Amino acid sequence: MRVLIVDDVPDNIRVLSRMLVDDGHQISAATNGRQALKLAASCAPDLILLDVMMPEMGGYEVCAALKADPQLGSIPIIFVTALADVEDETRGLGLGAVDYITKPFKEAIVRARVRTHLELKRQRDLLQQLSHVDGLTGIPNRRAFDERLEQEWRRSVRFGEPLAAAMIDVDHFKQYNDARGHLAGDDCLRRVADALAEGLMRAGDFVARYGGEEFIGLISGVDVDGLAGVVEKLRAGIEALRIPHGASPVSPWVTVSVGAAICRPTQETLPSNLVEVADGQLYAAKRLGRNRVSLSNA
Ligand code: GH3
Ligand code: MG
Ligand code: MG
Repeated sequence: MRVLIVDDVPDNIRVLSRMLVDDGHQISAATNGRQALKLAASCAPDLILLDVMMPEMGGYEVCAALKADPQLGSIPIIFVTALADVEDETRGLGLGAVDYITKPFKEAIVRARVRTHLELKRQRDLLQQLSHVDGLTGIPNRRAFDERLEQEWRRSVRFGEPLAAAMIDVDHFKQYNDARGHLAGDDCLRRVADALAEGLMRAGDFVARYGGEEFIGLISGVDVDGLAGVVEKLRAGIEALRIPHGASPVSPWVTVSVGAAICRPTQETLPSNLVEVADGQLYAAKRLGRNRVSLSNA
């Protein structure tokens, strides 16, 4: 894992870095507070070892700045400092550091504490990842979608670019389950998910399982005509899987209906409106006979 070492004395960095490289970690180093904040943002460390007494910007100030940043606030910080008073340690831990080691330190103790905090970080990352993946299909879940939508929305507002959403629902899927059983239904959902993920692979595209047999895609960097092309390709791609669905009145194969919406996000409009309009278009596509796409501006 990656550890960022911050200390104004290069010799201290050398000692810590030798120990941690021995333990198989990748090291980045900064000799002042500003550089530390920059590196924390660019190299995504799993742990920061932070000196307190540094000229210009001290370690407490660096810690407070990191904790105030939504992107960087969850990186664990261990203070490594010559300040050994109870007040200093209390202040450091109060700022949100996970640990406080005083200099001169014992190598074995630093190693053990670093190991513990990196293991905790690894488990947190795993949990974070698992909580964003759909267990059945392995593609992102609705929680992941909601977060991504917020991000893409802000990005689109900033750059004045359009953003589109597509709701994708398997046609007559209840009948598929009834005819073939739930396990076959699960398999079918996995194949549909894979095909959708393949169809939405460009940077700026995203697809998630929204729930049940419904999926949702986010598409950026297209106009209405581009969007129409993308969603029609998704629909055709599912039909082309040729998953037999004898009980469907629409087609001999499993098909999907797609409702899509596109808008130019602004500070005054809500991302939930984009999803609602796409949902409305999905119902229109169902009403018009299924195995088709319907889209509109949101
Ligand atoms: P429509 O064409 O109007 O969308 O009809 P439908 O039958 O697809 O829609 P409906 O909402 O009536 O039924 C959805 C079905 O999807 C019912 C439910 O059992 C099934 N389903 C939802 N989640 C899962 C799942 O994880 N696995 C399986 N096998 N089936 C699921
Ligand atoms: Mg359905
Ligand atoms: Mg449904």
